[in-house]
Amino acid sequence: MRPLAYLNAHLLTQDQSLGELVGGILVVDGRIADIGPRIQIPETAEVVDATGMAIVPGFVDTHRHMWETSLRGMTAWRDYSAYVRVIRSEFGGLVTPEDVYAGDLLGMLGALETGITTIRDESHVQNGPEYTEAVLQALVDGGGRAVLAYGWPSTDTYAWRSADGNRRRHPTYISEVLKRGDSAAGGRVTFAMMIRGPELSDMDSARADLAYARSLGLRSSLHIGGVESSRHHGVAALERAGLLGSDLLFIHCCETSEKELRMMADHGATASVSAYIELAMPGIGRPATGRLVRAGIRPSLSIDAEPTAPTDMFSTMRAVLLAETAQQVYTGESTPVPLTERDVLAFATIEGARASGLDADIGSLTPGKAADLAVIDLRRAGMVSASDPASCIVNYGTANAVVDVLVAGRFVKRAGAMTDAAAVERAVTAAESSRRRLLQERASGRGRQSAR
Ligand SMILES: [Zn+2]
Repeated sequence: MRPLAYLNAHLLTQDQSLGELVGGILVVDGRIADIGPRIQIPETAEVVDATGMAIVPGFVDTHRHMWETSLRGMTAWRDYSAYVRVIRSEFGGLVTPEDVYAGDLLGMLGALETGITTIRDESHVQNGPEYTEAVLQALVDGGGRAVLAYGWPSTDTYAWRSADGNRRRHPTYISEVLKRGDSAAGGRVTFAMMIRGPELSDMDSARADLAYARSLGLRSSLHIGGVESSRHHGVAALERAGLLGSDLLFIHCCETSEKELRMMADHGATASVSAYIELAMPGIGRPATGRLVRAGIRPSLSIDAEPTAPTDMFSTMRAVLLAETAQQVYTGESTPVPLTERDVLAFATIEGARASGLDADIGSLTPGKAADLAVIDLRRAGMVSASDPASCIVNYGTANAVVDVLVAGRFVKRAGAMTDAAAVERAVTAAESSRRRLLQERASGRGRQSAR
């Protein structure tokens, strides 16, 4: 790979010692080799004048159920119970490994186009080894960076999530797959566990899932504090059992109490706020951003489910700020920690990397880290003259303004176009045919699961 240098860019590094600066960034062998107002450029380097452009670390989405991507729009503006009924009960039992591959691939390519370079795929479609392999293959083929968070089967989801004498345990064959972690796509795809946790299941299942993940050296994520569950205080239950740790990523946290948020902070646990979907899908709960920050946790951000939420991070960053503002406007509550555009940019980048356990390698423009970059044109007609780069990106940013996207120094998008147009076409065609088949199958009434 030829060295690459961007010059004269607004560099929003997310590295505390570097801050924000106008200057150059040099990429050599997939890594950031240098950054600063003036950089040494090797003679062999390709040089790009990035005047009027901002460069940020590629966005990190810490929670997305990627297999659902082909079902976009299916539950837009519907409530959580409709989402559960449609996605889980109607389609969960119908998906084949081909459908899962198509959904994951489309999800990754769509995200890359908007500047998201890393996704934690919360994959609760683990119906057998061929499904795990299909997800893994899609994440490798998609060309982005991914964490495959291994969940439970979509065919048997209610039994897995039962709190009533739950005996469901993960099959041992998955250890072999999960141990392959670092070898998938040269370390670009790694593994974690999406555990059920005490609020979606029971304490015995939470303990068993966590022990299994930890025996494999994997980090875990769990959905918590959603209005969907009648069982609350899961964080306190984990604390009492001595199971809280910095390897845990708590997703949503909407109804999680202040005391529990502080417990999470005390143990170095991380959080993921899916502000867009939490606002757009009644029944999950209020975004916990402000409460998390007050408790000492700077959260990461996530898209969650594309049947409802758009694929990009701009919508989610704006939703975080809208939710905090709406809270003040409609409830009269004041927020002692006013969030700024710079805060949400950090949540969408370095905090996402931290929550994924990848901050040694990504999340900031730091020499030595992988060159996962999003280059954003601030001189678009719809963006120009906003007060500063962070305001411009967060308040006016769109996928169209993301002109270049690099993963480990490799262009996946360049000059506004995806570099592998044939792969995008294949993914679109596969997703369209998957969706058509799934709709036909649903109409025939096959595969329907009912809640127990
Ligand atoms: Zn979720």
